[in-house]
Amino acid sequence: MASYEYEVHDYDVVVVGAGGAGLRATLGMAEQGLRTACVTKVFPTRSHTVAAQGGIAASLSNMGPDNWQWHMYDTVKGSDWLGDNDAMEYLVRHAPQAVYELEHYGVPFSRTEQGKIYQRPFGGHTTEFGEGPPVQRTCAAADRTGHAILHTLYGQSLKQKAEFYIEYFAIDLIMSEDGVCQGVVAWKLDDGTIHIFNAKMTVLATGGYGRAYFSATSAHTCTGDGGGMVARAGLALQDMEFVQFHPTGIYGSGCLITEGARGEGGYLTNSEGERFMERYAPTYKDLASRDVVSRCMTMEIREGRGVGSEGDHIHLNLSHIPAETLAERLPGISESAKIFAGVDVTKEPIPVLPTVHYNMGGIPTNYWGEVLNPTAENPDAVTPGLMAVGEAGCASVHGANRLGSNSLIDLVVFGRAAAIKAGQVVDREAGIAKPNQASIDKALGRFDGLRYAKGNISTAELRLDLQKTMQADAAVFRTDKTLAEGVKKVEAIAGKMDDISVSDRSLVWNSDLMETLELTNLMPNALATIVGAEARKESRGAHAHEDYPDRHDDEWRKHSIMRVHGSKVDLTYRPVHTDPLTSETDGGIELKRIAPKKRVY
Ligand SMILES: Cc1cc2nc3c(=O)[nH]c(=O)nc-3n(C[C@H](O)[C@H](O)[C@H](O)COP(=O)(O)OP(=O)(O)OC[C@H]3O[C@@H](n4cnc5c(N)ncnc54)[C@H](O)[C@@H]3O)c2cc1C
Repeated sequence: MASYEYEVHDYDVVVVGAGGAGLRATLGMAEQGLRTACVTKVFPTRSHTVAAQGGIAASLSNMGPDNWQWHMYDTVKGSDWLGDNDAMEYLVRHAPQAVYELEHYGVPFSRTEQGKIYQRPFGGHTTEFGEGPPVQRTCAAADRTGHAILHTLYGQSLKQKAEFYIEYFAIDLIMSEDGVCQGVVAWKLDDGTIHIFNAKMTVLATGGYGRAYFSATSAHTCTGDGGGMVARAGLALQDMEFVQFHPTGIYGSGCLITEGARGEGGYLTNSEGERFMERYAPTYKDLASRDVVSRCMTMEIREGRGVGSEGDHIHLNLSHIPAETLAERLPGISESAKIFAGVDVTKEPIPVLPTVHYNMGGIPTNYWGEVLNPTAENPDAVTPGLMAVGEAGCASVHGANRLGSNSLIDLVVFGRAAAIKAGQVVDREAGIAKPNQASIDKALGRFDGLRYAKGNISTAELRLDLQKTMQADAAVFRTDKTLAEGVKKVEAIAGKMDDISVSDRSLVWNSDLMETLELTNLMPNALATIVGAEARKESRGAHAHEDYPDRHDDEWRKHSIMRVHGSKVDLTYRPVHTDPLTSETDGGIELKRIAPKKRVY
């Protein structure tokens, strides 16, 4: 092995990732005077959060009656009763405060006539515990909400003197002999130097792993690096079988058309020009939750009512909405439709298809963002020194299916919660423990092995093989047969990692090596996804199993816990937290409201 020199940086906290979750955590930590480093492989404002269009959910009641209990009910139902009730209550109760904080930090929200924050309807968000009309709960900055949030949080973090390490790629966690996280090993992409970030608390905010699939709305950088690092450290992933397909990716490119388009009145039609959602979801129609709409679209296509010469997609109609409204509320998607589908939304429908969009699963945490290391004796045991927030984490507030606009709020509420917790548990006065040399050497050994890999398969080839397999075998609808075959195929693909070839041996801007490291992260995420899906013999949320069309709470209302060893996954389960944070007598939600029932929209 080549020898690597490295520079050591000591901090109270190192946050890996500068998307909405990483930046909100960084800002909160720095505000409390914790010495905070934020390490990111892309420039902060290029993180995938920048692409979030539709908005951020909070029961502000600016457009009509709303309250946290209704938001909680919708989130519980959206999750198909797999979310943890304590975490969901924490989310919805802190949501309004978190949005006002964003407003005060400077996010330029769209406004109502009275100057209040504008809110739009979004799928699955309702009134009266799902009995009333859709609610306008989603706060938006036109259709560029994530963009506005990222720029604001980055500016505020700089003001608080957080230190940014930009275009540094985190390779692996540093773990002590007794299982305490001590920081990360990172590679500086532009000059090839190696850096040790030695910290009292490490926060993973590395985003999702949408790129395990062939067609995804997420950025090419969404490769589940946090999940990969955690898996290699012998820690667990949770509920990975739940992958959300967004109903409206542009046919062909996968580029997203926000659900806000349907929130503003857009609707779907089949080849007969029929508004088919009225048949499947008579109450909420096109604003039923995402998994439901994606399945209905897939069913229409399968039954021969798809549009286009191949009958393989669906139309999204916006042309009945006044052109001024489109220009004011949905300018970004009007532009995307023009560029990626050649469509003028004021005149023609947009060709759309369900596209991989969000990972409900991730690194298990409690509602403070502390990473869990579940054991049979203690399913809620915490890994000292390690937190995870944002799409990389699984608190779990989205359970088996996430409601639109509930992710941006998850980023800021739990980014903030992690900072509050770190403020309590990190001892500012204490010296920093020396990092475990064996763990550093192991990370560098892995890095060196990949750098000099001279097998027979290129990274691009193997990645494509993985993406196509996941797309075909862990799709919107799943069967015992496709899943069993899929597990075998993905295990075989993961086995080929040993035969990978990297052609560039340099350390400066070596995108071949970086993509190979990313592939080593996609792999455990994908394996956990398909193995978890194969094992779960029911349908719940985004996991629609054709051989088991019903949900089975007695047997399956439990979180899947996956530990990945090479190309094998060790699967156990962890109970769902059914108790909310506050009891009914203390002003909490009435328990009968959130008891499991059939999920219809
Ligand atoms: C097109 C699109 C539109 C969306 N619209 C909405 C919406 O309107 N409302 C909503 O609620 N949700 C929306 N979502 C979902 C939501 O935007 C994402 O879940 C969320 O932005 C994820 O944020 P994050 O901070 O967890 O990660 P990201 O924003 O993905 O950021 C990840 C960060 O981690 C860093 N990183 C990753 N790996 C490494 C590594 N190895 N080393 C160093 N740094 C690393 C990256 O540099 C980056 O800074 C949308 C998603 C997409 C794809």
